[in-house]
Amino acid sequence: MNKKPIKPKGKTPIPKKEISVGKGNGCPHFKKCGGCHLQNMTYKEQLQYKQVKVIKLLGKFCHIKEIMGMENPVHYRCKVQAAFGKDKSGIISGVYQSSTHKIVPIDSCMIEDEKADEIIVTIRKLLKSFKLKPFDENNMTGFLRHVLVRKGYYTGQIMVVLVTGTPVFPSSRSFINALLERHPEITTIVQNINNKFTSLVLGDKNITLYGDGYIEDSILDCTFRISPRSFYQVNPVMTTKLYSKAIEYMGLTGKETVIDTYCGTGTIGILASKKAARVIGVELNADAVRDAKFNAKRNNIKNIEFYTADASDFMVEMAKAGKKADVVIMDPPRAGSDRRFINAVATLAPEKIVYISCNPETLESDLTYFARKGYYAHRIQPVDMFPHTNHVEAVALLSRKEISKFYGGKVK
Ligand code: SAH
Repeated sequence: MNKKPIKPKGKTPIPKKEISVGKGNGCPHFKKCGGCHLQNMTYKEQLQYKQVKVIKLLGKFCHIKEIMGMENPVHYRCKVQAAFGKDKSGIISGVYQSSTHKIVPIDSCMIEDEKADEIIVTIRKLLKSFKLKPFDENNMTGFLRHVLVRKGYYTGQIMVVLVTGTPVFPSSRSFINALLERHPEITTIVQNINNKFTSLVLGDKNITLYGDGYIEDSILDCTFRISPRSFYQVNPVMTTKLYSKAIEYMGLTGKETVIDTYCGTGTIGILASKKAARVIGVELNADAVRDAKFNAKRNNIKNIEFYTADASDFMVEMAKAGKKADVVIMDPPRAGSDRRFINAVATLAPEKIVYISCNPETLESDLTYFARKGYYAHRIQPVDMFPHTNHVEAVALLSRKEISKFYGGKVK
């Protein structure tokens, strides 16, 4: 890890404002937990480090804009997860140490929502008084495996998901009442059953114990449903900035057909639909598509439709059917997209592609391949969605106009 920030070369601006929360940031779990890789840097240094990383990987495509950072980069995670287990001191809750299944006990974390952390500590204390045992992964015995808390940043709604190794929940009613008494701000409680030998947190079955079984939150002027298993960005403040930039890059006038690929619960497509003629969303996860359809209705959006499919298969089918699109949005997982997808997008011949990426390495290889297919990056905006970690998000605008200045007249 770089102890000293690397100074970017050239004219690309670096953040001037110091937004430091102090070196090491005072986190007592820093070395043990391993979640925040960059805590040995001030926040300003972290932003510089990320800016330089993006410039090094993607600066060959086009000018890299100054990274958008957080004004107050603490307690930003609205989705908090804790694993439960036992050590000599009794029941513990916390995070798995990087690449292990050893739990590092954590009661409060500087990047997690404070209320969510408080609820998790309360649950741990209640387990003892209700004589409920944490789950033991080695023997596959016991009760509570994980707790997941999700909070709607703008609505204040809170969902608690108790992930249990067995469907049997002794004294569930009294447990729920005791939890609600201590935290009346909780709006829904769900039991999720995960009795498999797996490192995945959530199992397939949900039982709603209190409330609706989901929460809602807003982004810009739309409201979205968040279920226990659906993908939803974890940093609401920066999500608004990221999505606003993506929508700006789409340059919509009201006449366009837009395809939102890897659309999750339909957030970006729904926001874009207000400025487009028609939006088509595609997503692999059927639960997310169900939420997306609900979200469209919830926001009274009529010009959007969603499909459950592999994005590459779907785009290949669209291309075969001779369909056209004006704008393609893509927001793939860390592995990026694949060549079938990119080939099919090139056949659909959109005027613009807006690529939201959570991994600049795969963005680099996808942009290189896009350039071979005649699509060039014109703008790249890094966004710090995950302060203190080494993750970098970026949104790129691609079109068929070549910027020979940046590509040196050559397509690699
Ligand atoms: N755009 C959404 C979700 C982005 S996360 C948002 O901002 O909230 C990436 C999404 O890609 C996830 O919802 C995941 O389920 C989906 N996904 C992963 N592989 C896929 C594939 N092969 N085809 C379609 N969707 C896929």
